[in-house]
Amino acid sequence: MSRRTKIVATLGPSTDSAETMQAIVRAGVDVVRLNFSHGAAADHKHRVDLVRAACRAVGKDVGLLGDLQGPKIRIEKFRGGKVMLRDGQRFTLDAGLADDAGTVERVGLTYKDLPKDVQTGDMLVLGDGEITLRVEQLSGVKVVCRVETGGELSDHKGINRQGGGLSAKALTDKDLHDIRLAAELGVDYLAVSFPRDAADITRARELLQAAGSRAGVIAKIERSEAIQNLDDIIRASDAVMIARGDLAVEIGDAELPGIQKLIIHRARDLNRVVITATQMMESMIHSPVPTRAEVLDVANAVMDGTDAVMLSAETAAGKYPLKTVEAMARVCEGAERQRITLRSRHRMDTRFERVDEAIAMAVMYTANHMDVKAIIALTESGSTALWMSRISSGIPIFAMTRHEATRRRVTLYRGVYPVAFDVMHTNPDHVLKHAAEELRKRGAVKDGDFVICTKGEFSGVTGGTNSLKILRVGD
Ligand code: PGA
Ligand code: MN
Repeated sequence: MSRRTKIVATLGPSTDSAETMQAIVRAGVDVVRLNFSHGAAADHKHRVDLVRAACRAVGKDVGLLGDLQGPKIRIEKFRGGKVMLRDGQRFTLDAGLADDAGTVERVGLTYKDLPKDVQTGDMLVLGDGEITLRVEQLSGVKVVCRVETGGELSDHKGINRQGGGLSAKALTDKDLHDIRLAAELGVDYLAVSFPRDAADITRARELLQAAGSRAGVIAKIERSEAIQNLDDIIRASDAVMIARGDLAVEIGDAELPGIQKLIIHRARDLNRVVITATQMMESMIHSPVPTRAEVLDVANAVMDGTDAVMLSAETAAGKYPLKTVEAMARVCEGAERQRITLRSRHRMDTRFERVDEAIAMAVMYTANHMDVKAIIALTESGSTALWMSRISSGIPIFAMTRHEATRRRVTLYRGVYPVAFDVMHTNPDHVLKHAAEELRKRGAVKDGDFVICTKGEFSGVTGGTNSLKILRVGD
């Protein structure tokens, strides 16, 4: 329980053995991500089975996050798999060209509407930003460009327009299919790629619910439009992901640091969870140690208040998945030990809307000003624990609940640890004593320690938290 920041690890070929899965869960993975951009349904099912088995073996709740591919706008394929573009040459994006007929002069498009969405003078950015094209001329289904920065271009590289504005819908046919798959797999969170506004999130949530899932919805912030609609998107979501790969390509890398801090700040203010993602420990795909810059990147996100940091190819396809998780855990813990990380800067100027919210805030204020060793939230839905975790603190928050879905949901909340605890089978007069005893058994507290607890009048009622009690373990 010494780390508050949560680690999301993407699964892939590198984690496909029972040993590796168990090792990374043991080393500190809190949430695993299934990337629906890669792999077939059978691969994802197999991975879910591996995770569930690892959780049983390690005795830990791990959240499951399904990530939709979304309308990634890509070029099609080249005859030889790749070409070399020279600075200053002409290159045509041709929506009418056969899928595998690309050459050094032209290439096909997965997104046939691209010619309608761009104008002459636009800058198009390919891959992770290594190649840039200036649109010179539009003729029918062809976008004729001048190469401004050349380089090697291979099959299926993504295309972004600098400044955003491509009109592709957030949910593709494949996404609709994957939403049903996600529901079937029992994911706890579903991430929506390239949402433009709150309506894209609401639509995904409706489809997810129609498929029988109550999973939380995560908005990936990776388009310029999403920044313009940021607060509305955050409000429509349960969590947001700073998807720095595509986002940086659209807004330019120089804007990224400021926007990352803004998103973390807004998410916390609006009582939502935030994940910082992409290239956090990129060099560890090939190297057993992170670079200094990566160490600083992870630490800065933690100091700014992110709930979770995410690993992508580092765990999914890297050479050192276990070492990467260990390094990330170590760096998070180091950053959390700094004073600045432990001080609350939260919503000093707002009014509380609800009794349970007010109780949660009172708990955190008290805990941060008293020698309290643990916070216990007896919770049904996890919302009290969420409010608590918006306040910076060094004290662990135990979300004690009989609901497995709630335990897996809170795996993403910073400083919150799920504990299985059945209030319904506990004498109501002694429920807090038993909860504290459960933590003592787990070694989280010892006799004589102060703990703060919240509970409702009636056990088992959602949203009923209305009391705060401070007690001494063992009394
Ligand atoms: P992706 O999203 O890995 O699905 O592309 C993350 C990002 O764009 O940073
Ligand atoms: Mn992306």
